[in-house]
Amino acid sequence: MLGIGLIRGISGITELELSQPCIKETNEVLIRVKEVGLDGTDYGILKKGEPDIASGQDSMVLGHEMTGVVQEIGPAVTTFKPGDLVTVTVRRGCGICHPCLENQSDMCMTGLYTERGIHKLDGFLSEFIVDKEKYIVKVPSQCADMAVLAEPLSIVEKGIQQIRLIQSRMPWNCSHPEHSFASPQWGGCKIAMVIGAGPLGLMATALLRLAGATVIVTDILPEDHPKAKLAGYLEAQYINVNGKTAGQIMDHDIIRGERLDIIFEASGASGVALDLVNYMSRSSIYVMTGIPQEELLVCVDAAAILRQMVRFNQVIVGSVNSNRNHFESVMQFIPAIKERFPEFRDRMLTDRYRLNEYQNAFTKKSPISIKTVIDMI
Ligand SMILES: [Zn+2]
Ligand SMILES: [Zn+2]
Repeated sequence: MLGIGLIRGISGITELELSQPCIKETNEVLIRVKEVGLDGTDYGILKKGEPDIASGQDSMVLGHEMTGVVQEIGPAVTTFKPGDLVTVTVRRGCGICHPCLENQSDMCMTGLYTERGIHKLDGFLSEFIVDKEKYIVKVPSQCADMAVLAEPLSIVEKGIQQIRLIQSRMPWNCSHPEHSFASPQWGGCKIAMVIGAGPLGLMATALLRLAGATVIVTDILPEDHPKAKLAGYLEAQYINVNGKTAGQIMDHDIIRGERLDIIFEASGASGVALDLVNYMSRSSIYVMTGIPQEELLVCVDAAAILRQMVRFNQVIVGSVNSNRNHFESVMQFIPAIKERFPEFRDRMLTDRYRLNEYQNAFTKKSPISIKTVIDMI
């Protein structure tokens, strides 16, 4: 069986000759992989050149965003049958902490988890995979054409759930009961800034718009870039912040004098991300999902930041990974995204490759690419 990944000690992405996996435990499912999406984590692993391969292994298959078709089920599997379209979660719990034992390994407390295609476990860029039923999520037919985005959407959904959980401390945030945290229109009367117009930022924009929030998207791209235009299509306002300080961003006509109820950081640009903390409004929530790749030393007025956070009841929260509950939520709102933003999928999935074109898929990223998918079948 063909797989695509990295070999220890050898730079670059390569073909791997793998033995075809088979069902060994009664709760396992054999899946034929259909599509694999690539993201910044994949490009980052390749660029770093030091894949996180498990000890005792010589290679690791990449890929952690996928759809596939169930081929065969173990005798104890009850929720799937051959032919079902599915997607699979990424993280496998440590087996020690309580969140992991509850299949909530995105909140692992030991750090001893593994992740398919990222951290010590083979990913999904192979013809077949096997996994346990509890890590597999069924894709309803109305979600089939967007399900390859389920993993990144689940990351965004988790971040947004964090916002809603924190916002629940203020049920009287505005005078409209329909804008309470439990309502689908919870974003009403709120202004959100999304930092970064990459796939995660644009997906966050779509979900925040569906929830009724006013959204401002910032990135360092010109206004006519497809990412900036997609932000506009999602009914958000876009600001090119190239070369601007946080203070200059906040002085832009669109934001000046407004409250910033929510900041959703999806760029990993640590300098601006930290600077913007100084501009959080009273009782506002800042969720960080971008992971900076390089060190950055800055000089800050620590007393001013702490003073402000206390006096203004502010919350800064980090959010990483997702669990099957978030994947299941995604299947609930994909139809809503398709109805409200019918061009979203095609404008997001800009680059498609066949499996034999994998080298190009990983390396030929054009400046106007947004998201790359490899078709495996
Ligand atoms: Zn754990
Ligand atoms: Zn309201």
